[in-house]
Amino acid sequence: MRPKASPRSEVALLPGYHSPQLDVEVKLNTNESPEPPPEAFLTELADAVRRIDPHRYPERDARALRHALAEHHGVRPDQVFCANGSNEVLQCLLLAYGGPGRSAIVFEPTYALHSHIARLTGTVVVEGARDEAFAVDPANAVALSVTHDPAMVFLCSPNNPTGNAERHEVVEEIATSASGLVIVDEAYAQFAPFSAASLLGSCPDLVVVRTFSKTWSMAALRLGYLLAHPDVVVACERVALPYHLDALKQLAGVIALAHAEEMNERVSRLVEQRGRLEAGLSELDVDLWPSDANFICFRPRRHAALTVWRGLVERSILIRDISGFPHLDGCLRVTVGTPAENDRFLAALSDVLSS
Ligand SMILES: *Cc1c(COP(=O)(O)O)cnc(C)c1O
Repeated sequence: MRPKASPRSEVALLPGYHSPQLDVEVKLNTNESPEPPPEAFLTELADAVRRIDPHRYPERDARALRHALAEHHGVRPDQVFCANGSNEVLQCLLLAYGGPGRSAIVFEPTYALHSHIARLTGTVVVEGARDEAFAVDPANAVALSVTHDPAMVFLCSPNNPTGNAERHEVVEEIATSASGLVIVDEAYAQFAPFSAASLLGSCPDLVVVRTFSKTWSMAALRLGYLLAHPDVVVACERVALPYHLDALKQLAGVIALAHAEEMNERVSRLVEQRGRLEAGLSELDVDLWPSDANFICFRPRRHAALTVWRGLVERSILIRDISGFPHLDGCLRVTVGTPAENDRFLAALSDVLSS
């Protein structure tokens, strides 16, 4: 027997969001850091576990973590809101500012969770386009804002899955002219030349969303945050569940920030490897787009994306098939790995493309 109850229509119609996980030797499909966090971070985290009182609720306002993040970014603690991964930050923003009768603009192709969570909250999704280099045209963005009067506009810089960062002036123009919140998802900001955080002082509707999942080698710990005007922080606190941020995660964030230098060294190593991967790919029978992130979007010229993806899986290498994304026919996305992983990927790809 099955339940008589059925979920809301928005939920019933949505496929869940899943990046396929397979047991392979080389995992280059979810843009994680290929390196674990620094050894000292792990030792300090293990010691911190003993300082937690498991029978007490965690500190509700995550004060120490918010102070540490505020200091790291040169903002005030009341401009910081933390959650379980940046996906929960996005969900809180949509719960507070989206909903029935409100709309959100996304520029496809982009991170699928923006429209996915918007739809789950009953927010109308308006899709804008990008140019051939996958950049957002500010005139187009402003025109869409005038027509739809959105509660929020989503930018993603660098954009997942295409890899390009938005230009500073573009973010500024959209952030100063939009009627609602302008949310810049900066999951990969440390790899890019510019962060919208520098515009927070002059654009009160700007929200910058960050995560510890990628650069900070902490995907398993689920920690993300936003930087914004204190009013936005208050709105997010109203919709977040009480005590949503567990005690261990709060400590992990504070400890990680004390190791920013080693985290930045990881970023430099990945940027160097990204250059090597780009050089290797440009010698193969594929078109690729320049990347400001830790992944590269490319398109085999003479092979179907799925054929190449399968050929790599047969060689125990997993990348992301993004050919089903809007405007990305035939495209694949590879995460920058360790030097050995990148070599293996390039050799296997060359092999697959010549068969
Ligand atoms: C990976 C990614 C995230 C990360 O989400 P978390 O919930 O913080 O792990 C957010 N935004 C974009 C664009 C991403 O690619």
